[in-house]
Amino acid sequence: MKKIRISNYEHIVILTGAGISKASGIPTFRGEGGLWNDEETKHLLVIDEFYKRPDVIWNFLGSIKEKVLNASPNIVHNVLSEIEKTAKKFTLITQNIDGLHQKAGSKNVIELHGSLLRTRCSNGECNLPVFDDYNVYSKAPRCSICNAILRPDIVFFNEHLGGTDFLAKVALRDCDLYLAIGTSGSVAPASNFARGADYAGARTILINMEEVENPYFHEKILGKAEEIIPILFE
Ligand code: NAD
Repeated sequence: MKKIRISNYEHIVILTGAGISKASGIPTFRGEGGLWNDEETKHLLVIDEFYKRPDVIWNFLGSIKEKVLNASPNIVHNVLSEIEKTAKKFTLITQNIDGLHQKAGSKNVIELHGSLLRTRCSNGECNLPVFDDYNVYSKAPRCSICNAILRPDIVFFNEHLGGTDFLAKVALRDCDLYLAIGTSGSVAPASNFARGADYAGARTILINMEEVENPYFHEKILGKAEEIIPILFE
């Protein structure tokens, strides 16, 4: 494996997915041991389902949130936080909703799919600001202002991303090194980022447990991120 010299690059963009938090005890959706190996679970994170069965979805997310609250960042989160300090320009984009990058000290994190550690009102007209929320719910909590159900500040399937994808695409425009780590690459728009980076002329690398079919990755390193990342950079 050829080492990456951080100082050789003007703008490093990194995309992370659920695979990097597996070593911290948070299950992935896809892949071995993934939550979606259970057919029922697969449909729970669609926005229509949330409004049909908010108690069930809050309860399901509660079980993940409990793991998230007890989790510590692992070596991958820590190395990425260190790179931010030394790179000339660095953008960290994550699909994860677990807040572990911030816990590891990363400052500039684009959370594409929001965060399980924030809650907001489901009523778009309500003035309740989005708030940090470390409570674990077994049923849907209600808004203290308008009594509508509260929702986690995450992006459900079939919902828009609300602008974070724009920030990510702006970062990709001038990147010269792009790495996707621990992501199955099957959720748009993140699945298209390798193409954007390739278009910008960047070197593109995938680091994942399993093969991802995407012609825009120039290099692929298959294996555990927590074993690869600590020895990949110099
Ligand atoms: P995914 O669950 O679809 O896929 C994870 C990928 O990581 C798989 O391809 C798997 O083979 C790989 N992987 C597993 N362990 C690994 C390891 N140790 N090292 C390297 N790779 C490993 O994840 P995704 O592509 O990020 O899915 C996107 C959706 O899943 C997002 O919407 C995200 O919000 C959500 N999600 C987030 C979390 C979290 O916040 N930790 C957990 C589960 C799902």
